Amino acid sequence: MTGTATRPTGLTAAEAARLLAEHGPNRVGSAPRTPIRSRVAAQLRDPLVLVLLAAVVLTVVTGDHADAIVIGLVVVVNTAVGVAQEVRADTAVAALSTLSAPAARVLRDGGERELPSAELVPGDVLLLSEGDIVPADAAPVESTALLVDESMLTGESVPVEKDAAVPSARLAAGTVVVRGRAVAVVTATGQDSALGRIAASLHPRPRLTPLQQRLAGLGRVLALVTVVLCLVVFVLGLARGQALEAMAVTAISLAVAAVPESLPAVVTLALAIGARRMAARRAIVRRLPAVETLGSVTLLATDKTGTLTEGRMTLERLWGPGWEATVTGPGDRPEGELLVEPAAGRAAAVALLRTAALCNDASLRPPVAADGRWTLLGDPTEAALLVAAVKAGLDPAGLARHSPRVSEEPFDSLRKRMATVHRAGSGPLEICLKGAPEAVLDPAVLDASPELLASASQQAARLAARGYRVLAVASALRDAPGPTESGLRLLGLVGLADPPKPAAAATLAACRRAGITPVLITGDHPATARAIARRVGLLDHADRAAAVAAGGDRAAGAVPDLTAVRVFARTDPQQKLDIVRAWQARGAVTAMTGDGVNDGPALQQADIGVAMGRRGTEVARQAADLVLADDELATLVAAVEEGRRVYDNIRRFLLYALAGGVAEILVMLLGPLLGLALPLRAGQILWINLLTHGLTGVAVGAEPVSEQAMRRPPRSPREHVLAGGLWQGVLGLGAVVTAVSLATAVWARAAGAPWQSVLFLALLAAQLGVVLGLRERLVTSANPFLPLAVAGSAGLALAALYLPVLQDVLLTEPLALPEIGAAALAGVVGFTAARVGGRGRILPAGRSDRVGPPRGAGG
Ligand code: ATP
Repeated sequence: MTGTATRPTGLTAAEAARLLAEHGPNRVGSAPRTPIRSRVAAQLRDPLVLVLLAAVVLTVVTGDHADAIVIGLVVVVNTAVGVAQEVRADTAVAALSTLSAPAARVLRDGGERELPSAELVPGDVLLLSEGDIVPADAAPVESTALLVDESMLTGESVPVEKDAAVPSARLAAGTVVVRGRAVAVVTATGQDSALGRIAASLHPRPRLTPLQQRLAGLGRVLALVTVVLCLVVFVLGLARGQALEAMAVTAISLAVAAVPESLPAVVTLALAIGARRMAARRAIVRRLPAVETLGSVTLLATDKTGTLTEGRMTLERLWGPGWEATVTGPGDRPEGELLVEPAAGRAAAVALLRTAALCNDASLRPPVAADGRWTLLGDPTEAALLVAAVKAGLDPAGLARHSPRVSEEPFDSLRKRMATVHRAGSGPLEICLKGAPEAVLDPAVLDASPELLASASQQAARLAARGYRVLAVASALRDAPGPTESGLRLLGLVGLADPPKPAAAATLAACRRAGITPVLITGDHPATARAIARRVGLLDHADRAAAVAAGGDRAAGAVPDLTAVRVFARTDPQQKLDIVRAWQARGAVTAMTGDGVNDGPALQQADIGVAMGRRGTEVARQAADLVLADDELATLVAAVEEGRRVYDNIRRFLLYALAGGVAEILVMLLGPLLGLALPLRAGQILWINLLTHGLTGVAVGAEPVSEQAMRRPPRSPREHVLAGGLWQGVLGLGAVVTAVSLATAVWARAAGAPWQSVLFLALLAAQLGVVLGLRERLVTSANPFLPLAVAGSAGLALAALYLPVLQDVLLTEPLALPEIGAAALAGVVGFTAARVGGRGRILPAGRSDRVGPPRGAGG
């Protein structure tokens, strides 16, 4: 099962740089950048903009230069803002993909290096291990039990053995190492690789997120309604004897102002900015839709080791037939001792640790720096065994030299055990085996009496109930090669402590408060899982036994309802998939953590697949929607919070923008009934549109998260964005803004003031009042952009009244102080209405269709 040739030493940095210049980066089918001019063209093709352009022509022809200039300006600004928003969103998304770019381990300059896969060149020497995605086409020169999943290229779902000893063996880019290790020389990169050749078919256009789709639909409906209403304004104006051309331009401007044409761009930008904020909090989103899905997660399926626990193992307990032992001292350095009871058992205990140190791929390096820190490399379980062996006076490196490994059966999470075969000189073959107790304490594996097996199982259960991860260790000496995994002698058990992270309990409690049900899925023993679950508060003492289920129970059909279970033990990756599906069938939005090579399907099935940035395998990272750069579950909770913030701010924007649109239309419809013949000019409407949607609209996206965001249940993903009273809020606020603006104008007309300019200022002030009133906390340093944008808009509104150039184009007149005061009062009314009746509608009440049994979900 092992093939070896002389191991190459790798390229030098200089050679690599030269080859990189020659072959280009190892990247396939990166989407070409959209040139600015196509983006501008796309903006100008928008039907509304086409209508505006027609209006420009119309006004020029009729000699109405003022309106022509304003409308032209609006087209320019609209297009510029639209293109800028698109570019910003694209840049943010591109930055995200570099954050989660695949990495590769290679030999360069004679040493081991990790570098971005894009920097690989032909001739590089790759080091591949379980869970890696082969980053380029390569020829293996050394392989150990190598098994590769090529389904992404060939569709063949059964993994294939690859042996470096077979001269034709090749590894293709994009395939996955599911077991074993290899050293391979890169033969082709980028477009020349197998993946590059089929990449063209693998590049789907980025699709809209569900929210974007829904908003696009909403936008179409609103556009239709608006156009109809604008036609009504147009016809009524004609009926009252207004000039045809003036009415046409006014109606068009009104349509442009009232339709929230910037909606899709605002949403994309909000999602992209949300993703950037998540990245700043160390949660890297790999797909934009995940930003919005995160906020509505209802189920968190978490693994144990390294996620809820420290992931740093310390061997504390040993047990063997007739003896027991304790190992003192910390787990990260070999300072402590082996205390055996009775002392006569010491030789047996040391023999167990010797076998565990041989059957081991980890390594332990003494401190090089003054800080005295030892370096533990490899699987933490195995590293802990090495540390204990040194504490017992053994020298693992010396052992490996004395009894070199001649072959192995690597560990995998299905078999749950690992065996190595060693030979010292011309002596007998020595077989070393370790694994989960059920996988080792088996008459097919061990040559042991039923009594010994029974008492060992009992001891294993006792250790597991105390929260220890338990391994059984066995060995055998053979004169001739034979089956490795039968007829072995049991040496004993080890118990490894892996304490819960200090923050784990608080993180799970935060999930519960936010309406997210946590469940634990682990490959560990049920008793170990239960003990840890209790300690982090995932199970309380009242929880029934059924709350914990082991893999075997489910295979036997003993668990009719997977969603009733809070702790799943001895689970294999396939069963993870079943658990996610069962919850999804009940309407849950699932987030699942995973790091193993077989977790890919479950990560993809989950609504949010979560991989660990440091600990996880490359496959898990590339299958995930979210990568936690710091491996902390609390980071996932932070991402959920950001997701909810994005959604809340989209609702805040909708409430503000749509209420403004409603008010603009109502003012134009009702104004004439109150004797205000043509309430607003085209240019004035467009100016209002620019100042409300443009500056302040974008600033709304940066509003801070609500304190309540993580204290309420998640919204249902099926819920409409305008649900939860939002559309009633739109109509209500729209009505208030209309009423107060018209009232101010009617007063001004009675007082003989320039009422149209008063109406212009009052309508704007009322809308700016609304956007301030919709803030969660009025005075906060969290988003200075909004108050700045409001101040800027107010300044530009005054400029429209007092700057002669703008007076000419917008047909406004300067106002006296009482009139400014009246408009400001309209602003105060808008503000108050938003505070009293609008703000509370932004935070959705939460889903009414809560899923899962109430137990454990409430906290
Ligand atoms: P978790 O959810 O805690 O991360 P897991 O699903 O990763 O756990 P595995 O690593 O698959 O769990 O381990 C399952 C069992 O296999 C362990 O309880 C242990 O008994 C055994 N085991 C783990 N690592 C090794 C190893 N390197 N060699 C032999 N046996 C091991």
